[in-house]
Amino acid sequence: PVGRVPLMAGNWKMNLDHLQATHLVQKLDWTLRDAKHDHAAVEVAVLPPFTDLRSVQTLVEGDKLDLRYGGQDLSPHSSGAYTGDISGAFLAKLGCTYVAVGHSERREGHGETDAVVNAKVKAAYAHGLTPILCCGEGLDVRKEGRQVEHVVAQLRANLEGVTKEQAASVVIAYEPIWAIGTGEVATPDDAQEVCAAIRTLLAELYSGDVADGVRVLYGGSVKANNVAAIMAQEDVDGALVGGASIDPAEFASICRYRD
Ligand code: PEP
Repeated sequence: PVGRVPLMAGNWKMNLDHLQATHLVQKLDWTLRDAKHDHAAVEVAVLPPFTDLRSVQTLVEGDKLDLRYGGQDLSPHSSGAYTGDISGAFLAKLGCTYVAVGHSERREGHGETDAVVNAKVKAAYAHGLTPILCCGEGLDVRKEGRQVEHVVAQLRANLEGVTKEQAASVVIAYEPIWAIGTGEVATPDDAQEVCAAIRTLLAELYSGDVADGVRVLYGGSVKANNVAAIMAQEDVDGALVGGASIDPAEFASICRYRD
């Protein structure tokens, strides 16, 4: 990824309470410190459950840890009668840098349409958060060979009305649904094909500069033993890591994929 700082983001999903979160962040930090990890060369972020964020903030700010964090979702609204939802304003107030938007587990399990995802991307920007916009095809689409077409259509809809200035900072995560939590990792060529197509779309929608600068991550059963081959692909600028991110040693190894 010439000129782009790789990002390794751990999506904890609904795992780890706030005490366990503190332990994991401490262990991750110690492991990376021991390895003299250069955070300017490979950025590290975690996306804990909402209820952990205050504890993570206290640790990161108190101990001045070189670690970014964010939410796994946000409301499209800023405040009001939306029981159970979380505003981007609250995430920003807790020091979040990132927020995942449109994860397949939200799209599938919570009926989030492309229009809802689009509204959430805009809400993230309205509150100064950087969206990690997730996209990806299911197995049926992959079997028909329509993965590029599918992902491009998703992103066109999800980025509708997002300005060039905003898009310059977006992070896109390509996550083929058939590879999430299944142990079935996409081949490096599969990842490269769609990540390259995403960059081509960004050039068409915005500009070559935006396309060159945006980080496109791969997600789907990334582990310490397969990350290097995926990261060797020209258009892959990092990983969104689920299962392997709640093991601090494994996640630290993923962040240290260059070793
Ligand atoms: C994810 O949840 O974004 C993910 C990629 O999960 P896993 O790494 O467990 O496949």
